[in-house]
Amino acid sequence: MKPTFTKIVATIGPATSGRDRIKSLMRAGVNVFRLNFSHGDHAEHQQRFDIIRELAKENKTHYSILADMQGPKLRIGHFQDEQVLLKVGQNFRMDMDETPGDETRVALMHPEIFAVLKPDMTLLLNDGQIQLRVKDFGKDYVNTEVVVGGPLSDHKGVNVPDVVLPISALTEKDKKDLAFALKLGVDWICLSFVQQPEDVQMARRLIGDKAGIIVKIEKPSALIHLDEIVDLADGVMVARGDLGVECPIESVPSLQRRIVETCRLAGKPVIVATQMLESMIHAPVPTRAEVSDVATAVYEGADGVMLSAETAMGEYPIQAVSMMKRIIAKIQEDAYYGPAMEAQSLPKDKTVASAITYSMKKMVKALDKPACIATYSVSGKTTLRAARERALVPILGLTPDEKVANKMALVWGVHPFVTKNLKDMTAVSPVAVETAKELKLAKKGDEVIITAGIPFAEKGTTNILHIATVE
Ligand code: PEP
Repeated sequence: MKPTFTKIVATIGPATSGRDRIKSLMRAGVNVFRLNFSHGDHAEHQQRFDIIRELAKENKTHYSILADMQGPKLRIGHFQDEQVLLKVGQNFRMDMDETPGDETRVALMHPEIFAVLKPDMTLLLNDGQIQLRVKDFGKDYVNTEVVVGGPLSDHKGVNVPDVVLPISALTEKDKKDLAFALKLGVDWICLSFVQQPEDVQMARRLIGDKAGIIVKIEKPSALIHLDEIVDLADGVMVARGDLGVECPIESVPSLQRRIVETCRLAGKPVIVATQMLESMIHAPVPTRAEVSDVATAVYEGADGVMLSAETAMGEYPIQAVSMMKRIIAKIQEDAYYGPAMEAQSLPKDKTVASAITYSMKKMVKALDKPACIATYSVSGKTTLRAARERALVPILGLTPDEKVANKMALVWGVHPFVTKNLKDMTAVSPVAVETAKELKLAKKGDEVIITAGIPFAEKGTTNILHIATVE
């Protein structure tokens, strides 16, 4: 199989915790591992992290590790009989009384929700399955009418779309998880429930440059500030699970397209997540619609496609990854794939860096597909710029920094590789050629386009372009 461009993100869970399973996931094509801090304890995450890093060394391959923070999940309390049935048209009350609930009421111990209520507002319970209309409310209660009913059981989630809740994207639990994940040395932190740019700034103060920040877009308020949030973040996840609860579900495809496009233009990696091969939790073959869904994300040029429960607790985790890999490979062969990557015109800002990467893409075409592009990048910025062009050849991402190499494993088309510190282009060229051969990205007679920023010690510059022929 030819090298694939779109990366595969797999969530690790009970179905895939052991060394053998993680090894099989790597063989099947996983590039990025997600540790989901909504589940599991620190000891489990530590063990999984250690196995991934150990196997990465053995394989001489770089994998990104993401730590996904739970964020402030809002939940109702519990019921006398664990579950009730809410009927359309009935009244239902939620309040700050912790006594077990029944068909008429339940506890909701979140004063911040009562603080933002307005008459006729919609409240959603149980992943949006139950819809309530606000009738009247006080600082510690709300009386509602059931608009869409159904069964409701203990501790189900509550969503309050269309408002900015006065809560932080990081709870006390998240702060402990974050400190732990940074100590482990994860490459990326995923922030849930981001509502406004200030949430990203607050997280940045805690994270600094210890890890990249991936913002999960799942709240309508985040969509209002999308450009600013993408600008502040290092990457984005289209978190379609909550997005489809907080926004009308039929708007998810167009929102996905808009978010992916915004990130591609900004040159920030973007992951499309949730229910991609959902039926493979219990079946060895996905539905046609799911195959098409993965294909859509690939055609849109997403950096990564993600598996959640499919790999965390599914019966066919390895098959799910192989399936994704096959879909990606197939779409790349399609005649429509190239034009789809071209469809977005990138901003022609008149900087040297943009001129270089723009010319790099032109060179790829002029040479009729050189074997690969090689970037030498201390910070990873040149590599991100090269990837942004979606030039349809693999990118060898050379860097002297192991942390940068691990991070780049998430980025479209990039094969990260750690080199010693190189001084100038005369030193980079032979390393690029030799490594491209070693990773089977190029063979004798092929051309490799090399781009970098001089002086190398200065992070963030891209100002040099060079073609080398493989001897
Ligand atoms: C989502 O909502 O789609 C998502 C990825 O977040 P989580 O799985 O943490 O709910």
